[in-house]
Order: sequence, then C-alpha cells, then structure tokens
Amino acid sequence: MDLSLTPEDIAFRDEVRAFLDEKLTPDLRAWGQLTRSFVGDVEIGKRWQKIVHAKGWGAPAWPVEHGGTGWTAMQRYIFERESAAARAPKFFNMGIRMVGPVIMKFGTPAQKAQFLPATVGAEIMWCQGYSEPGSGSDLASLQTRAERDGDHYVINGSKIWTTLAHYADWMFCLVRTNRDVKQQDGISFVLIDMKTPGLSIRPIITLAGDHEVNQVFFDNVRVPIANRVGEENKGWTVAKYLLEFERGGIYSPNPAEILEMADEACDTPALTARTAQTRIANMALEYTEKRVFSSLTTGGSTGALSSLLKIRGTELTQAASEIAMDANDLYALVDQPDALTPVSNAVPLGQAELVTATYRHLNNRAASIYGGSNEIQRNIIAKAVLGL
Ligand SMILES: Cc1cc2nc3c(=O)[nH]c(=O)nc-3n(C[C@H](O)[C@H](O)[C@H](O)COP(=O)(O)OP(=O)(O)OC[C@H]3O[C@@H](n4cnc5c(N)ncnc54)[C@H](O)[C@@H]3O)c2cc1C
Repeated sequence: MDLSLTPEDIAFRDEVRAFLDEKLTPDLRAWGQLTRSFVGDVEIGKRWQKIVHAKGWGAPAWPVEHGGTGWTAMQRYIFERESAAARAPKFFNMGIRMVGPVIMKFGTPAQKAQFLPATVGAEIMWCQGYSEPGSGSDLASLQTRAERDGDHYVINGSKIWTTLAHYADWMFCLVRTNRDVKQQDGISFVLIDMKTPGLSIRPIITLAGDHEVNQVFFDNVRVPIANRVGEENKGWTVAKYLLEFERGGIYSPNPAEILEMADEACDTPALTARTAQTRIANMALEYTEKRVFSSLTTGGSTGALSSLLKIRGTELTQAASEIAMDANDLYALVDQPDALTPVSNAVPLGQAELVTATYRHLNNRAASIYGGSNEIQRNIIAKAVLGL
C-alpha cells in the first residue's frame, strides 16, 4: 500500500493546521505545552474537546452515525500528529476511546442515546473499574460482587488504580455476578453513576507527585440492572472487546512530540545518536500504525495487533522521555511546580520547553503497566499471533 500523503491528505492536513492555528489560543497552547502526564489538565482538556466537537471532530474513530468523523486512518493519524505538534491540550477520555465503541456494539438503544452524544461532547467523563487489589494481570479473578435485589444490583468490593475517578461522572465496571462457574463466565459489565450513595474514592499519589489514580470502594451501591451492557455473566467478552481499543491507539505522535521538545537541548554526540535511533524506530512504528489502521473501517478494532502497538508505543514513549530528561541535564533534578502552570509568572530553570521533562519521564514509567502490562501483551502475541 502507498503510505505517502495524497493531494487530498495534504488538503486535509492544511485544514487541520488552519483549525489549530485559529482555535488554539495562547493560553490553550501554553496549557498543552505544560502537560506533564498522559492525562493533562482535565478542565482545560474538556474546554478543548468542546471546541473540537463543535467542529464535528470530537470522536475521530467513531462512525458518523454516532457523532464520529468517518475519517480514513490516514486522516486520523494526521489529526493526532498535527494536534501533538501544535501542543494542543490533551483530552483524556476513556469514554471516546474505550466505552463508546463498546456501547455502540453491545449497548441498548436507550444506552446509546443516553451516553454517546454526552460522551463525545465532553458533558460526561468516564473512569474504568477493571483492576482490583489482587486482580490486575489476572483480571478474571476479580472479586467485586453484584447481587440482584429486584431491578437493581447491589455492589460491594473495591477497584484500584482508577484513573480520574475523582473527575468521572460514570464508571464502566466489571463485577462478579456468579461465583459458582469458571471465573470468566461469572462477570458482568455495568455502568455506575459515580454519585450513587455508598461509593467512595481515596486518592493515590504517584511517583511523579500527580493525583491521577484512586482506589474506589463500593458499600451496598445500588445500580439499576438496566445499566448492564451485554448479557449477565457475558461481561468478559465485552471487557476484552474494550481492551482492544484501550491498547490499540495511535502512539507514534507522543515520542515524536517529546523528541521535538528535546531537540535543541540534545547537544552531545551521545544524545544526538540516541535521538536519531529513537526517531528512526518511531518512524517504523508510525508506518506500522498507518498500515494497521488503514486496514480498518471506522469503529473497527485492531485485535491482537493492539498488543504490538501498545508495547512498541509505550517503549518509545519511555525512551523519548528519558532522552528529554537527560537533555535537561542537572535541571532535571529540580522540582519546579510553580513553572508548570501558565497562570504563574515563575521563570523556569533550564530550557523552558523541558520544564515538564522529569514529570513526564516519571509519569511515563507507568505506560508499560497500565492497559495491561507489556509482559502480558507479549504473552498475548505469543499465544494469539505466534500460536506458541
Ligand atoms: C498509572 C496507572 C493507571 C491505571 N489506570 C487504571 C484504570 O483507570 N482502571 C483500571 O482498571 N486499572 C488501571 N490501572 C491498573 C493496571 O491495569 C494494572 O496495574 C495492570 O494491569 C497490572 O496489574 P497489577 O498492578 O495488579 O500487577 P500484577 O498483575 O501483580 O503484575 C506484577 C508484575 O508481574 C508481571 N506479570 C503478572 N502476570 C504475569 C504473567 N502471566 N506473565 C508474565 N508476567 C506477569 C506483570 O507484568 C508485572 O510486571 C492503572 C495502572 C497504573 C500504573
């Protein structure tokens, strides 16, 4: 296949650039530039998403009938790349990337009407209730239980590492609805309103000093049975479908963005060589992504190939983050939180572009763990792709 830009792609790229030039106000761009984690500032991200949504571009990978763009893979790639290059704020939304496609495939008409438009319009935020203390890689062993009481489930248990639970309006959650069968056959997928009585959230502060993840507790939380997605005890199928979207994203713009930030400061032969190696490896990833995504229609998933993209994408993000931190030299050791917000007049120590480098490096250490650790992705490739 031809992976170079066609005249139509070039026209589309110019349209995206013009949109970004017009809509990225200096403060939005500054917030984007100061993003220190894979999440970014949530309120700024929502503001940006609403602007993108008003243009009709809020859900690049969704089919048009559900408020998506119907873009080709190349157009989606161009949009991601140009947004990263222009330092657009990040909008971390598990709704658009993960639960949206699941609701499209398994949801009832009422669930589609309630959740899809509100999700793409950033009116509701989602969090993911999969992992539990003791059930991460071995997800099917999860213990949070849901017992029927009339037309409700009563939920008890706990979820952990729940990203942005403290901002989320809804959680998509795996619960055990049958304990007497094989683990995978007793799980259901439910949508939980985060304001339901009995639900509480405890922050977990990460290595990078960020509050992004939490532990969530359920104490007799009543959830309407109508909020279940898919059949009772068939949640494992739904959960696995979602994971393909969680892992199978477009990664290569991230390392590219970080390497661009570090470019000027990479002034030793050793750093220049590492940068060149990482850039070449990232180009290979970029072409692989274009090849994989161009074989999909919008709304499609990448299957087991998502594991390959996740491993390579997170490895290169980490390699690029390490280069940026090393390029910042001794300034990488200075904690300068005041310089991380555009509304402060603190002057950053070291090169301004690299003020987020250490925070990003620490935050990106988790990239090879979340979404299923890279060891687990290798196991999936061994089994599903190589047939070992
Ligand atoms: C920053 C961050 C955000 C997260 N956000 C969310 C979220 O929003 N929602 C959510 O549900 N979860 C979230 N997670 C949880 C994440 O999915 C789990 O941490 C991950 O699946 C690993 O599970 P675990 O932490 O229990 O580690 P374990 O499963 O205990 O694994 C420990 C180590 O053993 C290795 N290992 C385990 N089993 C095998 C095996 N069979 N073969 C080879 N190696 C193995 C792992 O690779 C890892 O290195 C998040 C995690 C992090 C760090």
